[in-house]
Amino acid sequence: MSTAPEEVFRSLKGTFRGDLVRPSDPEYAQARGVWNATVARSPGLIARCADVPDVQAAVRAAAASGVVTAIRCGGHSLAGFSTCDGGLVIDLSRMRRVSVDPEARRARFAGGCLLGSIDTVTQQHGLAFPAGVVSHTGAAGLVLGGGFGWLTRLHGLSCDNVEGFSLVTADGSLLRANPQENSDLFWALRGGGGNFGVVTEFEVKLHRVTSIVLGEALCVGDEIPSILRRWRDFMPDAPDRLKWNLNLRLAPNTESLPANVRGRPVASESVLWVGDPDEGRPYLDHVLSLAEPVAVTRKVVSYLDLQTMADDEFPHGRRYYTKSGYFKKLDDASIGQMVQALGTVPSALTQIELAYLGGAPARIAAAETAFGDRSSPFVVNLLANWSELSEDAANVAWIRNLFRELRPAMTPGVYVNFMSGDEDDRVPEAYRERWDRLVAVKSRYDANNFFRLNQNIPPRGK
Ligand SMILES: Cc1cc2nc3c(=O)[nH]c(=O)nc-3n(C[C@H](O)[C@H](O)[C@H](O)COP(=O)(O)OP(=O)(O)OC[C@H]3O[C@@H](n4cnc5c(N)ncnc54)[C@H](O)[C@@H]3O)c2cc1C
Repeated sequence: MSTAPEEVFRSLKGTFRGDLVRPSDPEYAQARGVWNATVARSPGLIARCADVPDVQAAVRAAAASGVVTAIRCGGHSLAGFSTCDGGLVIDLSRMRRVSVDPEARRARFAGGCLLGSIDTVTQQHGLAFPAGVVSHTGAAGLVLGGGFGWLTRLHGLSCDNVEGFSLVTADGSLLRANPQENSDLFWALRGGGGNFGVVTEFEVKLHRVTSIVLGEALCVGDEIPSILRRWRDFMPDAPDRLKWNLNLRLAPNTESLPANVRGRPVASESVLWVGDPDEGRPYLDHVLSLAEPVAVTRKVVSYLDLQTMADDEFPHGRRYYTKSGYFKKLDDASIGQMVQALGTVPSALTQIELAYLGGAPARIAAAETAFGDRSSPFVVNLLANWSELSEDAANVAWIRNLFRELRPAMTPGVYVNFMSGDEDDRVPEAYRERWDRLVAVKSRYDANNFFRLNQNIPPRGK
């Protein structure tokens, strides 16, 4: 008896222009890998599409066979949604075309692009698409969930900068979604994740990015809670051009740091000014003088350097686990819990990432896009990062315990792209008052829940 992936293989073979990779093929071992090594799955077929007709054919064949299907862009889903056991992976990694209209400050990019594929082309024109902070992240998954990074406070979420989508829906049709065409889909795709189809092209706005100043510093010991409180109090009135992130972690054991800091809990600060360095100087002077930091540096960086500087911290093939949430107000007790937890962190690579949004995204009305929450500016992401399978339990437990402690003070809501694969119950929480409208759009375009390997919005009756 033939299996569903074999059925799909037979139906595509002959006309498919990309590669069809099966478990017996030599390239299978490499092709099945995703970023998070805790998600080691074995799909029955990987269809690496070369173009839009390939995507349509793969979706139609998969829907006809009933095979479980994952869609993959960069493979960075923390939850591991871009792979599956025994099913089909529609892999867009061959579809990475980017075109820029510098006069109009617009770009089109294909559904398999990584952030780095977009930045390298847009920067040839001094332009940038606001997105995330690691260049090997897939743009599709990031943008469809919302997308934030260094430029967000100034220019909005990634999804706020999308003007149109082309997508293949569950029946294999190619649709456009923009304010004029399928406007319900256009709304849902800006934050609703991969629930509605395979996006094959994004049409986006770009912004001129010229000078950027980056300050970095570490705070140690009692200065950690102090800097957190000062950050919390300062950011609500900070200009949009200033992005100040804090990561709580153990200091790396590198010679570039003073010996008495290495391996100790620290608050690692990154302060960015996007724009005229002279205008930003007083802000950086102020921020970098707070709480007696050590290892203070300040430099003008190129946008491409900025966008790749964290790449090596989060390589493919390590083990990761995350939990995240928002705070409307960050109280002293929550700060104390995070600082205290650092004392027992099982991996030196694990980080408590703190970002303050506000700025441009907060000025967009909640109902304008499906994106989760614009009203709670403090985003906390607890990201465990380790290497050994034998250390899974300790690392996962540390994240869960800290999250349990922080949760009562958090505002309901979560950013879908910072969720793990064990949090289905939090998906309605992520969308809250937008949930019913998302269910209606899902029911219209994917009534059988073909696209279900995602933070799933089930259609009515499923
Ligand atoms: C190292 C790292 C850094 C990160 N930094 C940031 C950051 O700075 N800012 C931020 O906002 N997020 C960040 N994230 C989170 C990131 O947004 C999500 O992990 C996102 O899902 C990655 O997208 P991807 O395309 O690589 O994922 P994939 O694993 O390929 O896919 C993720 C989901 O999107 C769906 N999908 C993928 N491609 C398509 C498509 N073309 N059409 C329809 N659905 C599709 C998949 O089915 C799946 O459900 C980061 C993640 C990692 C691992």
